[in-house]
Amino acid sequence: MAMLKVEELSVKVREREILREVSFEVGEGEIVALLGPNGSGKSTLLHAIMGRPGYEVSGRIIFNGIDITGMSASERAKLGIGFMMQIPPALKGVRLRDLIKRLSKIYGTDQDTLRRISEELRIERLLDRELHRGFSGGEMKKVELLLLAAQNPKLALLDEPDSGVDLESLPIIGKVINEIVGASDSRAREKRSAIIVTHMGKILKHVRNANRAYIILNGEVKCFGNPADLIEDIEKYGFSECLRCVRVV
Ligand code: ADP
Ligand code: MG
Ligand code: MG
Repeated sequence: MAMLKVEELSVKVREREILREVSFEVGEGEIVALLGPNGSGKSTLLHAIMGRPGYEVSGRIIFNGIDITGMSASERAKLGIGFMMQIPPALKGVRLRDLIKRLSKIYGTDQDTLRRISEELRIERLLDRELHRGFSGGEMKKVELLLLAAQNPKLALLDEPDSGVDLESLPIIGKVINEIVGASDSRAREKRSAIIVTHMGKILKHVRNANRAYIILNGEVKCFGNPADLIEDIEKYGFSECLRCVRVV
């Protein structure tokens, strides 16, 4: 059974149609990449799956057999959807350490695992600061990843985890994504899945098991294919002319 089924999803924001009849699936244990030019609707799609308020949505979003289209973001989070935002909000008065503690209590995440992940990401020094206040771009990505780990999600939505990240940090971020999704652990009882939005596909070299990529163009799913092939084609021919993909009509 597919973990996530998006069926003819259209999204309007302030009267403007940003996504048009988008359909795709994410299987259990699958990592799916979303590619597309700036402004094509990738972030809007992840926000719509997470249940951001203020969107006018038609179509259906099915998560583990449950229709979540009308549910609030917090209901979706409780079902196991976690979101790493491209541009997260800064929260005055909210200390990162306290937020992590709260999240791990709510989601039953192991504190030692989170401590190890924050060491791996080398962000211990940020734990006593207010969330994302004055953080650099790369620090924000790492902190979002730690927050995602604290949510212990079944389906992780990752919006550009590799943008603005230095070369040395990239493999570390890939490793942590693998830990969150559990792609490296074949003994995991329940297979986890992820959707990764990426511009250059850099992160896919460090993430195991990226099975499929979709290209989103002007708010529509144009085609899908093997991630490495599509990225090579996009570099050579651009998003609209890539060759080794299956078109979605
Ligand atoms: P991507 O992530 O693919 O770069 P986005 O999903 O962020 O693209 O945005 C898609 C389009 O929708 C862009 O043209 C953007 O300006 C527009 N958009 C997104 N959110 C809003 C909003 N809240 N109000 C108006 N326009 C929006
Ligand atoms: Mg973008
Ligand atoms: Mg975006």
